[in-house]
Amino acid sequence: MSKIVVIDPGHGGKDPGACANGLKEKDIVLKISKYAKSYLENGYEGVKVYLTRSTDVFLELSERAKFANAKKANLFVSNHINAGGGTGFESYVYTTINGGTTEKMRSAIHNEVMNVFEGFRDRGKKKENLAVVRETDMPATLLEHLFIDTKKDADFLKSDANLKAIAKAEAKGIAKALGLKTKSKPSKPSTDKDKSFYKVQTGAFASKENAEKSAKELERKGYKTYIVKE
Ligand SMILES: [Zn+2]
Repeated sequence: MSKIVVIDPGHGGKDPGACANGLKEKDIVLKISKYAKSYLENGYEGVKVYLTRSTDVFLELSERAKFANAKKANLFVSNHINAGGGTGFESYVYTTINGGTTEKMRSAIHNEVMNVFEGFRDRGKKKENLAVVRETDMPATLLEHLFIDTKKDADFLKSDANLKAIAKAEAKGIAKALGLKTKSKPSKPSTDKDKSFYKVQTGAFASKENAEKSAKELERKGYKTYIVKE
């Protein structure tokens, strides 16, 4: 049976989330979430990904959790961008989580995503009474990808290639958390190397006459021959 993942791009519509350095949180997290869905569904077997929103619309926090509960998701991941003048990456699970599946899954995702943020601070694996991780029935985590109001962080988030790298790492972390297998790659077209063949040499002769004699002998036996002068 397929694993079900709900990815939640935070904010949306009338709620832009944090805004600074010409960026809006709601736009960045929507991109990361869409890329992550695509990486997961194209790269891994047996997974179905639902986004709580795939356009710029407003959703209450409780609606996001209800959506995931109705889908009977195996994992819920909420994507956000931090603000407040800090720097780096951090993740959250609900206050009462103490080890167990949720912690394992969060760690798998946190560690993969942190790989992308080379040169940024790992602010740690945290716990907080956040609505979306509290009201979801399944293991749930909320990720705060850098600080929109810190220039170094914002500059990183301005690159679409970086957002894709974040999403790819998130997909890899989710796959690890759920034990998903990568899709087998389509078989490669055969290369010249595969088409190589083998030659059999039957003799080397000092005189052309002897070589021709040997060739005739082989031809009588049904072999194709040719003489090469070296
Ligand atoms: Zn947010």
